[in-house]
Amino acid sequence: MIKDQLLTIKSTLPDHVTLVAVSKTKPDEDLLEAYEAGQRIFGENKVQEMVGKWERLPKDIKWHMIGHLQRNKVKYMAEFVDLVHGVDSFRLLVEINKRAEQLNRSIDCLLQIHIAEEDTKFGLNEEELNTLLKSDEYQQLKHVNVVGLMGMATFTDDETQIRREFKHLKSIFDAIQTENEQIKILSMGMSGDYKIAIEEGSTMVRIGSSIFGKRNY
Ligand SMILES: *Cc1c(COP(=O)(O)O)cnc(C)c1O
Repeated sequence: MIKDQLLTIKSTLPDHVTLVAVSKTKPDEDLLEAYEAGQRIFGENKVQEMVGKWERLPKDIKWHMIGHLQRNKVKYMAEFVDLVHGVDSFRLLVEINKRAEQLNRSIDCLLQIHIAEEDTKFGLNEEELNTLLKSDEYQQLKHVNVVGLMGMATFTDDETQIRREFKHLKSIFDAIQTENEQIKILSMGMSGDYKIAIEEGSTMVRIGSSIFGKRNY
């Protein structure tokens, strides 16, 4: 079941699009089923849950933190996290840098951009993004690599609106990419909107329920 859904989705993704299997709330055996089918990148939105899964599951899994992240939780995942998608403040970036430095590593991060109409979705606006990337304080952080942007569209049936929001994020991405060669990843698209996201230039989709089924909270 999970295997079939995973492979069906994978077969529709263009080669330049990376799939993050969003496994939040799901038990280890569900992740293992996806793992057996070849999936190696998993996305979680709670640090404690991700740490437990990292401890129990195969060590070649790449763990992506996709949720809103509190600074006091960074230390628990700094050792193993592969990519942090939702970095939405300079203070959070400083904390990630500090923890990475203690471990003698660098952590790849995506800056989250606010593109939705809802004010509940976190993220920087374009001006805040540019200010951050140009600041001396940012240039001094040697243990974080900002490798791209992440965004979430409004939760709506209005495809025109979703497309407009993804287009907006892609235009911001293109603008900073010309000045920063390390910017490569555009993380946008979930189960309900990933096809539109790919048409609008996504390079990484975060898909949960279409692979693992509906979540029970
Ligand atoms: C839960 C979640 C997803 C996956 O959502 P689905 O609709 O189940 O595909 C993607 N991105 C983020 C940030 C999430 O929290």
